[in-house]
Order: sequence, then C-alpha cells, then structure tokens
Amino acid sequence: TTAQLQQFDRAHHLHPFTDFKQYQKQGGRIVSRAEHIYIYDHDGQQILDGMSGLWCCNLGYSQQRIVEAVNSQLQQLPYYNNFFNCSNQPAAEMAKALVDISPDGFNHVFFTNSGSEANDTNIRLVHRYYDLLEQPQKKLIISRHNGYHGSTIAAASLGGMSFMHEQFRGIDYVHHIDQPHWYAEGGDSDRNEFGLQVARQLEKKIDELGEENVAAFIAEPIQGAGGVIVPPETYWPEIQRICDERDILLISDEVICGFGRTGAWFGCETFNFKPDLITFAKAVTNGYQPLGGVMVGDKVASVLLGGDGEFGHGLTYSGHPASCAAGIATLAIMKEQRIIERTASDIAPYLQQQLRQFEDHPCVGEVRGSGMVAALELVGDKHSRAKIADNSAAATFCRDQAIANGLMVRAVGDAMVTAPPMVCDRGEIDLLVDRLGRALDATAKEFAVK
Ligand code: PLP
Repeated sequence: TTAQLQQFDRAHHLHPFTDFKQYQKQGGRIVSRAEHIYIYDHDGQQILDGMSGLWCCNLGYSQQRIVEAVNSQLQQLPYYNNFFNCSNQPAAEMAKALVDISPDGFNHVFFTNSGSEANDTNIRLVHRYYDLLEQPQKKLIISRHNGYHGSTIAAASLGGMSFMHEQFRGIDYVHHIDQPHWYAEGGDSDRNEFGLQVARQLEKKIDELGEENVAAFIAEPIQGAGGVIVPPETYWPEIQRICDERDILLISDEVICGFGRTGAWFGCETFNFKPDLITFAKAVTNGYQPLGGVMVGDKVASVLLGGDGEFGHGLTYSGHPASCAAGIATLAIMKEQRIIERTASDIAPYLQQQLRQFEDHPCVGEVRGSGMVAALELVGDKHSRAKIADNSAAATFCRDQAIANGLMVRAVGDAMVTAPPMVCDRGEIDLLVDRLGRALDATAKEFAVK
C-alpha cells in the first residue's frame, strides 16, 4: 500500500537534497508510473511534469524505442568494460553519434555515468592537458557563485552554492566569480553593460591568480539549478574573448542546456560561443539510463592523443552498453523527428510567450527563459524588487500549490522554475500555464501581495 511504501521510505531512504529530519516526519509522494508528459503517484494522482523529471526526460515518458533498445542490449551484452583495450558496439556507435551532433571541432568523448563525474573528469583532463604541455603549474579552475556542477567533492567545489559549501571541505584550487544575474544584482544598470562588467570579473580573477596558474573557466550557458539565470547577450562573447586572449580553457557545462533545451543541440550554440570541453548527462538518454561524459574539443584532444603514457582515470561503467544503447536511440529519435527544429519553431516560443503574461501578475517581478526552460522571479514589490517573504517561503508555497493543482514545478530561491518536455503540444502548455497561474494567485492571496 502507499502507506507501507511511505513508511519504508521514511524509515530507511536518505534522499538527495532533502531535510532528513523533516522527511522522517512528513514522508513523501511515491511516484509509480509515467506516460507522455504526466507522472502518476501511487494513489493515482496525475501530475503534469513541468520539470521533465530532473531536467532530463526531454522526450517524455513514452519512448518505447529507447526501452526496446535497452532491453535488447541487456539481452545481448548486459555489461562489459571499456578497459583492457576492449570496446562494445553501443559505446563506439554512441561516441560517433555524439560527435555527429556536436559543434565543429569536437571529435572525441569520455563517458561517465553522471554529470558530477563528468565535471570531475573535466578537471582530470585539463590537468593532464597542461602537464603534457609542460605547464604543470596551470591547475586553478575558475567557476561561478550559485552555479551547480554536481555533488561529488570536486564537482561540488566547482559549484558555487553557499549552503553546499558550508557542509563540506572543498578542493582548494577552485575560485569563484559572480553570476550574470541582472534582475537580482543589476539594479538600474543597462542589461548588456551589466553582462560585460560581470564577464570582466573573470579577467580580474585571472590577474589576481596569475595567468600562468589558471587552467580553465567552467560555467553553464544558462545557470539552471541556480534559478535559470539567462545571461545578457554581451556576456558569453566577452567570456570567450577573455579565455582566448589569456589561453584559459573554456568548459561549457551542458548537463541541463544540452540536447535541445535552449533551442539548439547545445547551449553554447544558442549563446554563440566555442568551448574547449562540453559536459553532458541527463537528457542524453532521455533520463532512461544513467550516462554522462565530456565532449573533448580538438585543441585538447590533440595534446591528449599525442601524449605518452596512460591517462589514469576511468569508471567501471564508462561507456556502459545499455546506457549507450539508450543514448543512441534518444539521439536517433531527436534527429529523425526533428525535435529541436520543431520545438524551436513552435512550442518553445509559445511557452515563452504564454509565460510572459505573468509579467503583469502582482507577485511576479521577472519572467526569463530561453527555448524550453523558464523562471518566474517572485517579488512582494515590483518596484523595489523586494522579496515576498524570507527563506523562499513564497516560492515553496507556490510550488506546493502547483503540485496540488496537478503541475510539477521547482522552487529555486524565490524563482518558480519550469522545463517541460519538448514533446508538449500547445494545449498542454496552456494547461501548464493555467495551473501555474492558479498557484500564483493563491500565493498572492496567502502573502497579501497586491
Ligand atoms: N552540471 C549541471 C549543470 C547540473 O545541473 C547537474 C545536475 O543537476 C550536474 C552537473 C550534475 O549531474 P548529476 O546529477 O548527473 O551528477
């Protein structure tokens, strides 16, 4: 029964990013099945999944072709490793499939199981690259406050979420600069001027640390888990200029932005910059199997491939055949059904346009987004941009209302975040907007925002 499952779960299951004490008391929802863009809990409540799982089920939950690909791979070769000079058919084919959809100049991939491991791998690759170039002192990595790059020690060190840093001791060669969050930090400044100023913090940080010591800068094209922070147009070109001029490797963490979310295969294409390394995970298998990795650009790959000796890094499941089979099927569906082109020309602009109507809502200060990802910043006063309540209480309330109305959205700080599956139709976007609107109305009423 639902009650029994909840009891097992409360008693024994430590959930990610969860207040253990509170969860023990309250318990949670058991999600039992899913279809198209809907999840169903154990008691049968249907919820429109406005978060594509955790930004990963971009094609929704009814992709039988992926299920069959995994199933048949498990029957033929459930596992073999990619050590001992061995490979397997799905790993080799998936490497080629990823190269085919990546920007020009990306011809190699290193597979992991997750985005966190992929970002750890980035650090290992970057350090190896500079060692081979006989610049072993180039070890420092610059990233951004409020960024999220995963939960392993190295990936969490790259991340810039202060509440996470308070809970562990990170690696000491990561340094952070600000995020380009114009609405929260730009005040009265011009958006594009603000974008330039924030990007130039990278230059200042490089000067402070010494160019000869800095190896790489890592960031997400749009900061996702940090609240969907869409950078001003000027931001990424300036970051690119600085990395090029200072000979610093540029890593684009595309764990959320990759595979169509921002309107192109990768977010770096939407924002028009050319990274040296690309982190991917999540939607690469439509969330059906764990798979992540790093696309390695030619500049780095040529040095790695020319270096003598073994690269001492790898995972038991790097290039897992069943995960790669899921990835091959996912990319094939996306290509054959022209998912990115179709979304970019219809559903994505429709979603963005429909959400913009909330700019007039009393408790919404800003609506921002790109492609199929968006956020609504909740405020108590549009003019001063003051928060509605402390501790993100309004956003949490709004999220709970949305879920009660049958819509899964995420509360990040004071922002309501949505990233629905790319296979939604206009009617389903209307449903999402209607349910979100009712949650916003309830929030305005609860917190007396007029
Ligand atoms: N990088 C970004 C931008 C992410 O959003 C995430 C997860 O949300 C990660 C890395 C970590 O990926 P994973 O949870 O697969 O380890």
